[in-house]
Amino acid sequence: MKVCKFGGTSMATVKSVTQVKDIVLSDKERKYIVVSAPGKRFSGDTKVTDLLYAAYAEQKEKGSAAETLKEIKDRFVALSTELGVSHDWDAEFEKIAEGIAASSTADYAASRGEYLSAVLTAKVLGFEFIDSADIIKFRSDGTFDALLTNDLVKKRCMGNPDGIVIPGFYGRMPDKKIKTFTRGGSDFTGAIVARGVKADVYENWTDVDGFMVTDPRIVDDPRLIEVLSYEELRELSYMGASVLHPDSVFPVQSDGIPINIRNTFAPEKKGTYILKDTAGYPRPLVTGIAGRKGNTNITIKKAMMNGEIGFCRKVLSVIERYGLSVEHVPTGIDTMSVVISDIDSKGVSKAKIIEDIRGMVNPDHIDVSESMSLIAVVGHGMANTPGTAAKIFNALYLAGVNIRMIDQGSSELNIIVGVEDKDYDAATRAIYGAFFG
Ligand code: ADP
Ligand code: ASP
Ligand code: MG
Repeated sequence: MKVCKFGGTSMATVKSVTQVKDIVLSDKERKYIVVSAPGKRFSGDTKVTDLLYAAYAEQKEKGSAAETLKEIKDRFVALSTELGVSHDWDAEFEKIAEGIAASSTADYAASRGEYLSAVLTAKVLGFEFIDSADIIKFRSDGTFDALLTNDLVKKRCMGNPDGIVIPGFYGRMPDKKIKTFTRGGSDFTGAIVARGVKADVYENWTDVDGFMVTDPRIVDDPRLIEVLSYEELRELSYMGASVLHPDSVFPVQSDGIPINIRNTFAPEKKGTYILKDTAGYPRPLVTGIAGRKGNTNITIKKAMMNGEIGFCRKVLSVIERYGLSVEHVPTGIDTMSVVISDIDSKGVSKAKIIEDIRGMVNPDHIDVSESMSLIAVVGHGMANTPGTAAKIFNALYLAGVNIRMIDQGSSELNIIVGVEDKDYDAATRAIYGAFFG
């Protein structure tokens, strides 16, 4: 049996949902369907999930979310009318308006895109609707409860001969409140369901032919990766390849369920297979290149720092106290840098962090730069192969890009370089050109 997750673009228009229907009904093994909220219908359009976050903000600001909810309702009414299915959307949206008014976080609001999308898709396919709130569970501290969820998914979904549709992105807390995963989390829901029903394959249907060597928005028509390993996927998606949520591999890894990225708009293509072990497949030197902008780099200088026992621990304890995660810690003899990606998203004050580091280790100098991009070059093929780093550095030199930081994992699965945000696209193109040009 196959679990199929359809992303936002696949759920956005009458044409794309009809395409989804054809894909599902063309293979009797496609019985477990996970859907995202409708995404953008055209460039410049707004995803339903973003509208729902806006609805929550409108509720807080004006005491009612009516305006934005009307816009969302119109989209579902138009979709269902044109798809020839009927549903009481008025009743659904009344309940949603009440739910948003009673919520103290945006999670319930944000989750309704997937909920409504699954209700609609179940009708279009003639499959049963199963609410994620009943099978996907969080603990009271907000962490995902994998074991309880797996049990419930197994009991509720496994062996259903007639087909089911499950909304992605959310589950429920013990106090009955709805909680969402991080953005793009429907990929994770698909993986959870694949594990629970012991799927033969987890098909992840999106709007590109598969996992490309690098971001197609930066490099024109990059090569497709036919096969990559769970480890490579984790590195690439964590570092910014947004085609699949970085956590998608955890639920499927113990059973080694393959993930197959496919294009809803070109279903005849085989897409990309993500496997537990790719040892038997041809291995290019580099499998993929991914990155993200806007990291903060804090550099601390102090004479004879390396002789001061506990120096790094003290600096890192400050970062920990602010609930921030550390991406990299390149060190020199008298300098230490800490690269952090989530200072801005967590709303933490940089001035306060610097003050605390000063108090903790009394450094000679602290420097903060807020515009560092990290670019990861990833591949099992790099291990024990001389010259890979030289090729990357030479490509960046020829492109006139200054390297701010270098980090190589000891497994040799990745080499990470830090460059200025303004150089990010040029650096990505240069590295791509060096290995695939
Ligand atoms: P969905 O809504 O189907 O989940 P996403 O927008 O989350 O789709 O992911 C697909 C998008 O990821 C593509 O349209 C593409 O722009 C982007 N992307 C970024 N990096 C890559 C990559 N390495 N390979 C393919 N797509 C990528
Ligand atoms: N709709 C959610 C988002 O936009 C989840 C998803 O699409 O995977 O992030
Ligand atoms: Mg996605």
